[in-house]
This record gives sequence, C-alpha cells and structure tokens, in this order.
Amino acid sequence: MTDESSNQHQRKMQKLKTAVDAGIAAATDDRGLVLLLTGDGKGKTSSAFGMVMRSLGYGHKVGVVQFIKGVQLSGEELYLRQQHPEVHFYQMGTGFTWDTQNRSTDIAAAERTWAVAAELLRDASVQLLVLDELTYMLSFKYLDEAMILAAIRARPPGQTVVITGRGGGSALRELADTVAEVQDIKHAFRAGIMARKGVDF
Ligand code: ATP
Ligand code: MG
Repeated sequence: MTDESSNQHQRKMQKLKTAVDAGIAAATDDRGLVLLLTGDGKGKTSSAFGMVMRSLGYGHKVGVVQFIKGVQLSGEELYLRQQHPEVHFYQMGTGFTWDTQNRSTDIAAAERTWAVAAELLRDASVQLLVLDELTYMLSFKYLDEAMILAAIRARPPGQTVVITGRGGGSALRELADTVAEVQDIKHAFRAGIMARKGVDF
C-alpha cells in the first residue's frame, strides 16, 4: 500500500467513524423494540432464536410462543427444553392434531396460543418475547389484528417482541421498529436436498 492510499483509507475510515458516532449519539431512546422478520427466504425463525441466545447470555427472562401447526420437533426446542427449562416455551401444535383441516378447531388452537402470548405480553419481567410464525394467524384471519396490535403496543416498556413469518400486513409493519425481509435467492430444497437436522429444524 502506498502512503497516499493509506492516507486515503484513514480519511475514509475517520469519516465513517464520525458518521457512526453521530448516529450512536442521536439514538437516545432506550426501550424495548418490536421486530418483524419477514420475507420468503430462509432465516426468520433462526434469527429470532439468535436473539434468544443473546438474551439468555445476559440472563434475561425469555418467552417463546410458536404459532405452528402440528408437533414439529426442532433443535431449538430440544436445546431450550434441555438447557434452558426456565424459558417459557409454548407451541400451538402441542397435543393437538391439525389434520382435520377444521377452521373452527384451528381458530380455537390459535386463540389458546394467543392467550399464552398475551399473558407474556403483560409480564414486565419478560425481556424478550418471540412470537414465531404469528403473521399466518393474521393472514388466515384466525386472530383479530386490532387485538394483537393493541396487546403488543401495551406491552411493558422494557420488553422486546420478535415476530416472524411471511407477510403480516401493513399495520404490523407500521408498528414494528425494525422490519427485515429475508430474500429468497435459492433454497437447497428446490435442488432436491432434504431438510436437515441442525440446519432446517
Ligand atoms: P428458519 O427456521 O430456517 O430460520 P424460516 O423461519 O425463515 O427458516 P419458514 O418459512 O418458517 O422459514 O420455514 C421453515 C422451514 O422451511 C425451514 O426448514 C427452512 O429451511 C425451510 N424454508 C425456508 N424458506 C424456504 C424456501 N424459500 N424454500 C424452501 N424451504 C424454505
Ligand atoms: Mg420460521
């Protein structure tokens, strides 16, 4: 590297640092967030569990409510149940057969699951709450959107809520502080590769 390009690099880095520092100084609002992780690509639920791991690292109290059909065992469930039994973990599918394709039974299951989520949303000791695949309850109209948004808005100020799933609607996007869309560029599944333990579930 020549002296000139080294100097140029240093000036560029200094400029970047100044901008980043200004951004940090401007961010003074210290409160729990609402995050929406959406899009067609792989990485929404696993990103939410990345935050669970971060949170547990600081000894925070964590809740996970999964709005998923059937009983789908996952590595994250096994891990939390074995290593972190203190995490409040609830799955909609638990003890429930989804095969009936019965809308009213589906709605009853969604409502039971929402009751668990709603209780955690009122618990100020819960610092991180994951509502995995909640968006589908809105798109299928299994749960009332206004009720969900109101409960999330009324949560304790220190509580962060992570919502995953495709879609979710504009009102949820509006409410969320951070919205990220995982883009599907390619997925191994479409090349005939089986879903894999530790990678996909
Ligand atoms: P992950 O749980 O791996 O973070 P996700 O939450 O983003 O994935 P979901 O729509 O909840 O995605 O689907 C979960 C399962 O479906 C995972 O096994 C994942 O690998 C797979 N999957 C995710 N996106 C796609 C896709 N675009 N095509 C095929 N399979 C997908
Ligand atoms: Mg998911």
